Amino acid sequence: MSQPPATPPIPARVFPAGGDAHGHPARLELAGGVLQVLLEDGPARQVPLAGLRAATRGFNHSQWAIAWAAEGGEHMLIVDEAAVSPLRALAPALFAGGEDARRRGSRRFVVGIALLALVPLLVAVALLSSLDHLTDRVVERIPPGVEKQIGAAVLARTRLESRLIDQGPAFEAVQAIGRRLARPGEPLEFHLAERPEINAFAAPGGVVVVNSGLLAQAASAEEVAGVLAHEIAHVELRHSLRQIVRSAGLRVIFGALAGDYDALGGWAAQLGELKFSRDAEREADRRGLERLAEARIDPAGMLRFFETLEKTEAGAPAAKVPAVLSTHPATKERIAWLREATATAGGGPLEPIAIDWRAVAGSLR
Ligand SMILES: [Zn+2]
Repeated sequence: MSQPPATPPIPARVFPAGGDAHGHPARLELAGGVLQVLLEDGPARQVPLAGLRAATRGFNHSQWAIAWAAEGGEHMLIVDEAAVSPLRALAPALFAGGEDARRRGSRRFVVGIALLALVPLLVAVALLSSLDHLTDRVVERIPPGVEKQIGAAVLARTRLESRLIDQGPAFEAVQAIGRRLARPGEPLEFHLAERPEINAFAAPGGVVVVNSGLLAQAASAEEVAGVLAHEIAHVELRHSLRQIVRSAGLRVIFGALAGDYDALGGWAAQLGELKFSRDAEREADRRGLERLAEARIDPAGMLRFFETLEKTEAGAPAAKVPAVLSTHPATKERIAWLREATATAGGGPLEPIAIDWRAVAGSLR
């Protein structure tokens, strides 16, 4: 008789040493201090917890990269933050280590700068002592061309992690909704990533990426328009650019102040997804609603989408909470605000988005 696993299976992707960039789907089970990696397309592996190292990755540290050394080099697992809690509960030290390493890394950065810095730089540090202030200075100065390059770097990273869908009803729907929302001459581009997580994100330079999982969850084009309007607002308000600069560290920031943006582009390419402040999210919701009104799109779609997700969230274990909610704080409060804002919005004439949503949903199945 086999022992039942101590935890429910955790979904993961496995990147074996010397393997391809796409990885292999797997489930993780944890029992008796040993991690069972059950590959969907290969033999199971047993890894002692003691041999693992974990580090966060992704724009908002929404994923964990868990690595171990084995024959042939280093193997790696990618697990979503939303799914990692059973593992964290059993091996808190593994995850605390990842957080510590990150803090130590940023301290080493600062010490290194202090040792290497020239006198003018120290004067500059004294004058411009706050990181916020420095971030503002860099963001103000970044030329649109560089912002575009940073967006392209983020997109290249996304392409490495998941396939971009570039034809078919779902792709056409995203383009059509994007065109309805874009203002004349606005440099926006919309991409559809083949990923099951219910999520979308904005990168600098007008790059908006939406996951196929979000489209599959939406009941109408208006619901998707609500999410895209919110993400476009993040672009417009340069929230992504600001977060990238802010998280890049002082060395990169000083480089950018001196006109060297290469390190910033490299940094952006390492990130997955950004988490913004509650104020930034509120501002993006407000601007998103304005944009929907301009485009004569029913703002109730935005509200409906988040209400549906919240119901999913309420009934789901923590591991199943939609990604778009885990990156967007204060769901209940936000829905209450959206409800009020959509109810009091000026009632201009609405124009339905002419998309056969059944065909879109069908194409994603
Ligand atoms: Zn947001």
